[in-house]
Amino acid sequence: MSTAPGTTVRQVIIIGSGPAGLTAALYASRANLKPLLIEGIEAGGQLMLTTMVENYPGFRSGVMGPGLMAEMRAQAEHFGAEIVQGDVSSVDLSNRPFTINVDKTTYTADALIIATGASAKWLDLGVDKKLSGRGVSTCATCDGFFFKGLPVAVIGGGDTAMEEAIYLSKLATKVTVIHRRDTLRASKVMQDKAMSMPNISFIWNSEVVDIKDLDQGKVTALVLRDTKTGEKSELTVEGVFIGIGHTPNTQLFKGQLQMHDNGYLKTHDGSRTSVRGVFAAGDVQDHVYRQAVTAAGSGCMAAIDAERFLSGTLHESSHETAAAHR
Ligand code: NDP
Repeated sequence: MSTAPGTTVRQVIIIGSGPAGLTAALYASRANLKPLLIEGIEAGGQLMLTTMVENYPGFRSGVMGPGLMAEMRAQAEHFGAEIVQGDVSSVDLSNRPFTINVDKTTYTADALIIATGASAKWLDLGVDKKLSGRGVSTCATCDGFFFKGLPVAVIGGGDTAMEEAIYLSKLATKVTVIHRRDTLRASKVMQDKAMSMPNISFIWNSEVVDIKDLDQGKVTALVLRDTKTGEKSELTVEGVFIGIGHTPNTQLFKGQLQMHDNGYLKTHDGSRTSVRGVFAAGDVQDHVYRQAVTAAGSGCMAAIDAERFLSGTLHESSHETAAAHR
């Protein structure tokens, strides 16, 4: 097939530069596929928003999130991965090679690995992001340990918030869940578990309108507003975990790839998506585990699947055969 002028042709393109994307780049480069990785504006992914990471294997004293990502990036480049900056504006997955547009450049790829991740939702207060890593967190598994023996709050009423609260209840002295309504969205089993913990309590019908104290550069209290009466109150805490959900970064693929109802990409038989030759790894296709190590593992899977696809040894799965005959 002829290529339009200004088009860059690659065997494998990876979109996304968190643990999934960079691990895929590492494996694809070591398989001599000369991958191109497109890193978006939020280069490095969610670990760039954390401080110390103590649950990534291999670092007994922990590793700083941004430092870990810098090492992963350098390791992928060391083996020949090419990394370009830019936000992908559109993709066309209807024909192979696939087309990926980044600013004014068009790339084509015989295989595509999507590792665009998911973004934790914030409160839109401004101050919550400013105090991120300084008492405000969106990940209890990552940051809970820093609040051992301290009072904390969890915001939200879904499974994420319950899971965060249950996890934190084993570390913090007291966990207060703040929910904007008087009924939880979380599954019954998670609700029951959270409610059975002696040090978890609930404040209903309340929203957080401010987090103190930006001047001190740490969390000292939350300002709450009762959604029924409008009355304001203060809750003394040293940490606050925002558990109001994540948004998968799948906007680009709407109408082109199959997704779950919650917007996450569907994968099957490893990292395969609904389009043959397109693979997905990391949080963009995982709303359950969402850990750096699971993302890295699935990035490895996607690179191996892409390599087998390109070499003609990735056999059509029963899922794909059925889809082809539909
Ligand atoms: P959900 O969308 O289910 O819940 C989000 C919660 O946050 C809701 O209670 C919502 O309130 C509240 N909320 C949303 N925006 C705001 C805001 N701006 N201010 C205050 N509160 C807000 O997201 P989850 O991340 O909890 O769950 C996503 C999916 O992942 C679900 O399908 C869940 O079952 C699954 N999951 C499963 C887990 C497990 O099985 N262990 C663990 C974690 C997630 P309201 O209820 O009023 O809308």
